[in-house]
Amino acid sequence: MAVDPPKADPKGVVAVDSTANGGPTLGSREDPGAKAGGCCSSQDQVRRCLRANLLVLLTVAAVVVGVVLGVGVSAAGGADALGPARLTAFAFPGELLLRLLKMIILPLVVCSLIGGAASLDPSALGRVGAWALLFFLVTTLLASALGVGLALALKPGAAFTAGNDSVVDTCGHNAPTKEVLDSFLDLVRNIFPSNLVSAAFRSFSTSYVPSQKCIGNTTETCSCTGQRENVTMIQFGREVEGMNILGLVMFAIVFGVALRKLGPEGELLIRFFNSFNDATMVLVSWIMWYAPIGILFLVASKIAEMKDVRQLFIRLGKYILCCLLGHAIHGLLVLPLIYFLFARKNPYRFLWGIMTPLATAFGTSSSSATLPLMMKCVEEKNGVAKHISRFILPIGATVNMDGAALFQCVAAVFIAQLNGVSLDFVKIITILVTATASSVGAAGIPAGGVLTLTIILEAVSLPVKDISWILAVDWLVDRSCTVLNVEGDAFGAGLLQSYVDRTKMPSSEPELIQVKNEVSLNPLPLATEEGNPLLKQYRGPAGDSSATCEKESVM
Ligand code: ASP
Repeated sequence: MAVDPPKADPKGVVAVDSTANGGPTLGSREDPGAKAGGCCSSQDQVRRCLRANLLVLLTVAAVVVGVVLGVGVSAAGGADALGPARLTAFAFPGELLLRLLKMIILPLVVCSLIGGAASLDPSALGRVGAWALLFFLVTTLLASALGVGLALALKPGAAFTAGNDSVVDTCGHNAPTKEVLDSFLDLVRNIFPSNLVSAAFRSFSTSYVPSQKCIGNTTETCSCTGQRENVTMIQFGREVEGMNILGLVMFAIVFGVALRKLGPEGELLIRFFNSFNDATMVLVSWIMWYAPIGILFLVASKIAEMKDVRQLFIRLGKYILCCLLGHAIHGLLVLPLIYFLFARKNPYRFLWGIMTPLATAFGTSSSSATLPLMMKCVEEKNGVAKHISRFILPIGATVNMDGAALFQCVAAVFIAQLNGVSLDFVKIITILVTATASSVGAAGIPAGGVLTLTIILEAVSLPVKDISWILAVDWLVDRSCTVLNVEGDAFGAGLLQSYVDRTKMPSSEPELIQVKNEVSLNPLPLATEEGNPLLKQYRGPAGDSSATCEKESVM
């Protein structure tokens, strides 16, 4: 099928017409107003507006219908009435969405980062990377401070009575936990994976077992053998299930830089990864139309399987309120304000553009699973150039977790209040710093943040067993947490785009133009603009778009 060449807008960014590839058109940056609404005077325009925002409306409606359906099923007896088999069937459409999104993550992260790193010259890469990391660090610290402040002000744990029916499992209090240092060393180990193939599905983790005879036995045999202080703890490291996305991100960036260094010799491989990435994005555009159905059943099944939701809300209501309020303040005020101050653009229009991935984050509780949809939307709805979004978003989805840092701070203060431990200044600073650092290590998966919460609790000597209270309501808090995590990544990409626009930072240096010239002599069929950001993102030094000329010369 002949595919029309994508159009370049005045800024040289190509609006991908994914309908040409069989996918939906999400709108382009050429006329965001027309797509985002607010311009419709006649019936025709209203219809066009509705059609342009159909996916967003469907996704938001899916969340609402999912909640209503879940509450309805819960009222009719919930999981008990349905039985395990029917509950699984009820959750199946949601499970399918998660599987589809997870399937996409590996090729997307690796190919987009290799392409993204290769399309920026090393100095631009350094500057873009440094700005992005600075933004991620500052916003995460702000989120942590907000979390601590809210928890200290609202005191969610002060009037809390745990009672005898604790949700702590009988073995939980004896489970050996690892040291703070181990967690940070694991983080560094995962940045440098020893085996790339195994990094695609396993990460490194240090653990402790209570006695020598336990090594090699099952965890169940080992975890209840006595108090930690009374037994000899054996430390051992092993690969555990779960993609080592941090290691893959690091490898892909360095590999992209190396490819660029190769010059013309690396061009073919860069084009390969870009094509791979573009094909993956076409798959994403197809999956997007399934997202509303998947989200509806993800939300509904989660609510349906919850027991004693009312009891949990009564007991942990203040803690939930603290987290949700913090996420709302950070997501609706702090981040938009930062975006407005630096980009001088309407942050809420930006948010509207990423509504579908935000709803997906809510439904899936996973930043990684939301990444494909987020890339598509920031590029096509919010006008972020591909080489920015494909470089920044995978990094953001891996290391930038404002929502996780915020909820971890609330949780730490909550557990301190629960145990009557007063937090002095040093402890508060420790919580802030460790929450920011441990959010980097949190995986972009459901409950990823709860796992690294142990680092903070260990750092300020709070009982790790109380995590069970946090876990009891994590199915809800994790959703708003994930929404904030991915929102922070998107704003980071948007801010970088405006930084690049303002500084007229060339995405390609003369060295790269040379690469392109060499390539144009190549007898192999040349990539269309869709296939190669190197060819389509170049803007002349005076800020004029050379993309069109470039395109003409290669077509
Ligand atoms: N679920 C979150 C995410 O994927 C991580 C967390 O638990 O905080 O971003």
